[in-house]
Amino acid sequence: KTTEEWQALDAAHHVHPFCDHKSLKENGVKVIVKGEGSHLWDSDGNKILDGMAGLWCVNVGYGRKDLTEVAARQMDELPYYNTFFQCSSPPQIELANKLSEVTPEHINHFFYANSGSEANDSIIKFIRLYWDQKGKPEKRTIIGRNLGYHGSTIAATSLSGMGAMKKLGGNYLPEFEHILEPHYYMHGNGMTEEEFGLYAANQLEEKILEIGADKVGAFFGEPVQGAGGVIDPPANYWPRIQEICTKYNILLVCDEVICGFGRLGTWFGQNFYGIKPDIMTMAKGLSSGYMPISAIGFSDDVYEALHYSGVLANGYTYSGHPVSCAVALKNIQILQDEKIIDRVASEAVPAFREGLKSLSKNHSIIGEVRGQGLLAGIQLMKNAADKVQFEVEEQAANICRDIAIKHGLIMRAVDRTMVVCPPLVITPSEITEFLEKADAALTETEAYFGL
Ligand code: PLP
Repeated sequence: KTTEEWQALDAAHHVHPFCDHKSLKENGVKVIVKGEGSHLWDSDGNKILDGMAGLWCVNVGYGRKDLTEVAARQMDELPYYNTFFQCSSPPQIELANKLSEVTPEHINHFFYANSGSEANDSIIKFIRLYWDQKGKPEKRTIIGRNLGYHGSTIAATSLSGMGAMKKLGGNYLPEFEHILEPHYYMHGNGMTEEEFGLYAANQLEEKILEIGADKVGAFFGEPVQGAGGVIDPPANYWPRIQEICTKYNILLVCDEVICGFGRLGTWFGQNFYGIKPDIMTMAKGLSSGYMPISAIGFSDDVYEALHYSGVLANGYTYSGHPVSCAVALKNIQILQDEKIIDRVASEAVPAFREGLKSLSKNHSIIGEVRGQGLLAGIQLMKNAADKVQFEVEEQAANICRDIAIKHGLIMRAVDRTMVVCPPLVITPSEITEFLEKADAALTETEAYFGL
């Protein structure tokens, strides 16, 4: 089929998540047909550098035959069996064991689901079950952050701090509260980074005191907020959050859906920030996106409480799908055997961050570059010196995204920020390619806005 034929068929029958359907009908979809390493090819034969690792997930890159072979073998052997009937299959057992090896020492028990949203939705129930078991059933309120993203189910949307999503459907669930996101550039107001780190973390204490610690069950956060525009907090933020959670007897949940499996140059975001959550969410990089799978990790303490609660009345037909588990297991083995995370930390991250810093010096449209590891947000400003933002209607980030794709680079537009998250296997020459294409796209965006 030609690109036009694919586009017409897509427009006729396919409803896309998080897309402007008017634009889809007018401009047509980009049809992606193949991937290899850090690159994709579209239906017109254009080679594109994937600066977003799919949707923050293809950590080991595209085209790994060892992953597809494992999937095919498992399909032949046992394509499906459930985990409800007191049954397990070898990949389900082996993956849980492997996860206990790579996650922090205190996390040793794992529950499977199929997506980050499902996992977080389950965690919300498990938090409430935990406090029921502890004889404190009134500790039901869960605190998240503005611009936090935890998924698309009703509960995960309620927990998230995304205004636009809450317009869809409305009347989200009660017993979710939100605090300020630790966005130094936007909210620093003359404070030093360290002062701001404490100020932002102390918002949690204020919120707990406002609600009453006896009513708060958990604080939920991404180590680095991803979909909200890549917001990495000052170094003292997370340790202070941990202190507050301990002080008020509140569970700490790290949503590691983006930060997990090497994104920051450490296995998990909690390793990077030196904290110990009670519960963690994993998805995306768990299987490098080759199969849908997510996992919840529980500390021994949380597991004990759930374990003795009788029937754990929550789960999914595909909880621990054998093919997904086999692929995730192999994906983790690849990360280990090829020392990919060590290489990210020692080689890719310094080159990537140094290059982004130079970009920021050379482009007046850049307000700041933030993030950690191979996760970055490039904030676009109309006048960076005076901190004047683009108007929403100017669509600056969308325009930059569309220009970038013409240069053969995928970056994502989030509000007025370009977000990037390349595959962990990006090579030194591909980092150079990324920086050159981003440079060209930013130059053209500046010209578009007459900057
Ligand atoms: N949590 C975080 C931090 C995410 O970034 C996402 C997705 O981007 C989710 C949860 C939801 O995951 P899924 O789209 O697999 O439901």
